[in-house]
Amino acid sequence: MTLQNGSVISTQSCSGTADKNSNLRWDLSPEEIRHQTQRLILRIKQAYDTVGSLDIGKVCFENTLQVIANAKADYAASRHVLDFPQYVSPCKEVRVASTEADKCLSDFDVEVSMRADVFQRLIALQVPLTIILLLCDQSIHRKACDASTVSAPCSAGLARCQRRSSKLQAFTEKQSGDLLPESERFLGRLIKLGKRNGLHLSKDIQEEIKSISKQISELSIDFNQNLNEENTVLLFSEQELVGLAESYVNGLEKTEDGRYKVTLAYPHYFPLMKRCHVPETRRKMEMAFHSRCKDVNTAILEQLIELRARLAKLLGFSSHANYMLEMTMAKNSENVARFLVGEQERQYLLSLKEDDCERRDLDFDGQLYAWDMPYYMNQVEQVKFAVDKDKLIEYFPLEVVTEGLLSIYQDLLGLTFQQVEDAHVWHDSVKLYSVQDSVTGEEIGQFYLDLHPREGKYGHAACFGLQPGCLGHDGNRRMPVAAMVANFTKPTSSWPSLLQHHEVETFFHEFGHVMHELCSRTRYAEFSGTQVETDFVEVPSQMLENWVWEKEPLRRMSRHYKDGSPIPDCLLDKLIASRVANTADQTLHTKDRADTAAEFAKHSKDILGIPATPAGGYDGQYYSYLWSEVYSMDIFFSRFKKEGILNPKVGREYRRVVLEAGGSVDGMEMLKTFLGREPCQDAFFQCKGLTQTITEQNSH
Ligand SMILES: [Zn+2]
Repeated sequence: MTLQNGSVISTQSCSGTADKNSNLRWDLSPEEIRHQTQRLILRIKQAYDTVGSLDIGKVCFENTLQVIANAKADYAASRHVLDFPQYVSPCKEVRVASTEADKCLSDFDVEVSMRADVFQRLIALQVPLTIILLLCDQSIHRKACDASTVSAPCSAGLARCQRRSSKLQAFTEKQSGDLLPESERFLGRLIKLGKRNGLHLSKDIQEEIKSISKQISELSIDFNQNLNEENTVLLFSEQELVGLAESYVNGLEKTEDGRYKVTLAYPHYFPLMKRCHVPETRRKMEMAFHSRCKDVNTAILEQLIELRARLAKLLGFSSHANYMLEMTMAKNSENVARFLVGEQERQYLLSLKEDDCERRDLDFDGQLYAWDMPYYMNQVEQVKFAVDKDKLIEYFPLEVVTEGLLSIYQDLLGLTFQQVEDAHVWHDSVKLYSVQDSVTGEEIGQFYLDLHPREGKYGHAACFGLQPGCLGHDGNRRMPVAAMVANFTKPTSSWPSLLQHHEVETFFHEFGHVMHELCSRTRYAEFSGTQVETDFVEVPSQMLENWVWEKEPLRRMSRHYKDGSPIPDCLLDKLIASRVANTADQTLHTKDRADTAAEFAKHSKDILGIPATPAGGYDGQYYSYLWSEVYSMDIFFSRFKKEGILNPKVGREYRRVVLEAGGSVDGMEMLKTFLGREPCQDAFFQCKGLTQTITEQNSH
């Protein structure tokens, strides 16, 4: 693929600054993965041992915080060569070795996080600094007072005072280095994490915490690996797939006897559940989807629940146990939020079902099943907004979307992407891009695009940070590297890869995370890229989703796959107007959402800036999602929508204030800087409650 304003360059020509470039290798053998994992562990352990064995009276910035920072930067840059192949390697043995490596490294993470010796030295580094600063202050103050009590200033006294104060200052600097705000934040964070791990508790309890944490992380890895290795295929005849778009059916592989192979991957599962007219096909699919790895994973889940409850209790979090549990459960079980359908809506969906059954000559039993929900919700959408998705999809060939998307991000953030020719990658369908600042020409990072499903590959869309954009041990900047992994239908010889609009949205969202990683310019690996507060991490990407609901960007990302014609205006208008139904379709029905917003408003003060607590029956995960939506809507409407959604000035400012800072600054501080005021909820409520206004605005 050729980029709009990017030519293809070779790997050699972009490796001018050798130490900055990534030397990521994706061809390690299982043996090499095992070997390098052990070496990495040994190297990092040595650094921690050095810090842990320091005379506690001699700790200073250089021999403690800096050593840990260097070790962390090394670790973050070396780890993903070992643990990332489990998601993408075409070779099963490599995936297995990489999963093993991930387990070893996760065990090691637990071990490192439980280093009480290092924790004590960090405390020692923090405590005297405060005392020294206090003493220094008092002593200067007292001397100054002493001096002022004598009628003529005593020059000897003043000199002694100055000498002493500069001596104290030198001492402080030696102890702390130039303790920049980011260093102070780093120290504070290490100590906070130590306390969360109970390092201030008794030795026995620490040991127990350690063993539980290890078990939890191993079980989580197994759980995910089971899902990745899931390869169930269901076979359906053409009649059993009635209702599905031509593009969907043509994209399916066939068996020798002419039946179609449907997998349980999202791009197969969701369209079928929404569109297939045959209830029996949807039922089979729903059953298979919900029994993915059922036997093994149910057992794992049960163990996880028990271990987490025990851990929460040990850490004194008993009142928060449910909360923690909910958060992690939702994360691991991929429990997509159930539709909350009120009685009125249920009756309406049932009436649709009755009509449908009559039309298709099916039995109507007056029940609404799980496999009916996506199908009839989709009909509601069709009835309300009449977006012809079969037509729409023809305007989103993957290459056109990719080209448009990359060009929008480049223009907006002031970046230039160039595809790296003959790049070293893990599969020949993967592409590598070099990212430069479009003004200075400096290469700031690299990213991979791995967009099609393969056997054994990670089944969802996600961004993986592979190297942090921080300072190395030599003080030189390290280049961030990230990968976008997705599962967009592969083009076949007779059919192009066409994207549904929601897939375009996913692409835009995940690529937003990639940019968050890539623009990172922090001092410490700990704060690089998306390592921000949990309720801030989705904000930049959610904000950027707005672009796929606006005319100009949509035009840039679309073209009919046959004749290259643009999307007709009427279709575009209908698509944009359907945004409301789309959000409803994603999580909740509109009516419940409105209630949620009111509920949310009532409690908003309580949860402002505080980790979300469950209230009114909504889980933390959902609150956190809502909360980031408040921020992202505020950013979008108050700056971009006002000053131009493709305005490079705003885009660059966004890059500098929000993306470059990573987690080195509080999310709230970044927001205030970018907005020029405290964030507020007006845009959010406008978007949720006054949808009419937004829709009208959009159709202009
Ligand atoms: Zn995301």
